[in-house]
Amino acid sequence: MPTFADLGLAPELLRAVEAEGYTEPTPIQEQAIPHVLAGRDLLGAAQTGTGKTAAFVLPILHRLKPFATPSPSPARHPVRALVLTPTRELAVQIAESSATYGKFLPLRSGVVYGGVPMPPQQKMLLAGLEILIATPGRLLDHAGSKTVNLSQVSVLVLDEADRMLDMGFMPDLKRILALIPKQRQSLLFSATFSEPIRALAQDFLIDPVTVEVARRNQTNENVRQVIMPVDDRRRRALLSDLLRTRNWEQALVFVNRKVEANRLGDFLHRDGHHVVEIHGDKDQKQRNKALAAFKAGEARVMVATDVAARGLDIEGLPAVINYELPFDPEDYVHRIGRTGRAGALGEAVSFVAPNEMEKLALVRKLTKAGLFMEIPVGYEPILLDFPRDLVAKATMTRMNRRSAPVRR
Ligand code: AMP
Repeated sequence: MPTFADLGLAPELLRAVEAEGYTEPTPIQEQAIPHVLAGRDLLGAAQTGTGKTAAFVLPILHRLKPFATPSPSPARHPVRALVLTPTRELAVQIAESSATYGKFLPLRSGVVYGGVPMPPQQKMLLAGLEILIATPGRLLDHAGSKTVNLSQVSVLVLDEADRMLDMGFMPDLKRILALIPKQRQSLLFSATFSEPIRALAQDFLIDPVTVEVARRNQTNENVRQVIMPVDDRRRRALLSDLLRTRNWEQALVFVNRKVEANRLGDFLHRDGHHVVEIHGDKDQKQRNKALAAFKAGEARVMVATDVAARGLDIEGLPAVINYELPFDPEDYVHRIGRTGRAGALGEAVSFVAPNEMEKLALVRKLTKAGLFMEIPVGYEPILLDFPRDLVAKATMTRMNRRSAPVRR
């Protein structure tokens, strides 16, 4: 097993990594860092939780070290590395990592994203910074108002590129590419290697090294994946009782639609749970507040939609619950990747009603690891439609009931 020092990182970075308590590089770090240090373009397939952020942030900081200067002059701090991410939350997390790993080097990093006022971001940009983390739309706003100059960018990172494509950021990406030098290093990270991602890589990367740490679309092995068959009308009551029964320290609950996030949050609140919600209809301030409360452990439950939860890194999160299965099975992989991170064990429980058999089949195709079926006594539907092999091996789970039973 190589150490971080073996990878050839600068002493300031080794100190920062040690201060974080990392003893050895994760597989993606071990594989990607030497190539990024050597200046190669890179196509990285890595799920969240694999340590991929440090896999690009550390070597970028190393490469920018010759430019590190305590000078206050903005002219001495042009943007040299640009990291594009699909969501605000992910952007904030990468910026935090960049500040953490770079704390012993006089390099500046900062983050811009939409949904908050422009002026504080403009002020930060005008003061100068070497590493800029941004969501595409807001970056273009700043470029349009000439508060940011990207002509000295030498490293470009597209993080969660698959999600950026899903969210329709392609035109924005093209516009941004036109603003940065052609001569540069480009890194593209994606949880999955779909055909559109391969096409994007062909366009954006020159002679890239490919680094793949988990088999394609394979779900995290540290996560115990449970299917709970449920009567479609009893999901809420089951959720509330499951939260009591399992007694996880915290749980992240995924729903498919924004309205459901609100309704479910209200229900859980009335039923005595400390809950926050995070979804696209909340403004940025509310989202930050909810996330902060959850990360600080003040809220035990967070109800989220896929877009809002993209890339979230919640330390030691023990459980993810799929209140319903996602329409896109790749979202399942992302969702359950929020738990079982960095080697910890996690549990992912998915509620599945008989009308979700198609979605279940897609999830089963994608997850090589087995799914366990636990039948929640008193909430289960008729099991005829469920895959026989799952039903045959199912176990019964009694619930700590408090919610009033729903009338049939
Ligand atoms: P990421 O996949 O980048 O979101 O990282 C997932 C988590 O792993 C973060 O909480 C990191 O702080 C943590 N992490 C990253 N690299 C290491 C490492 N080498 N050893 C232990 N933890 C790490």
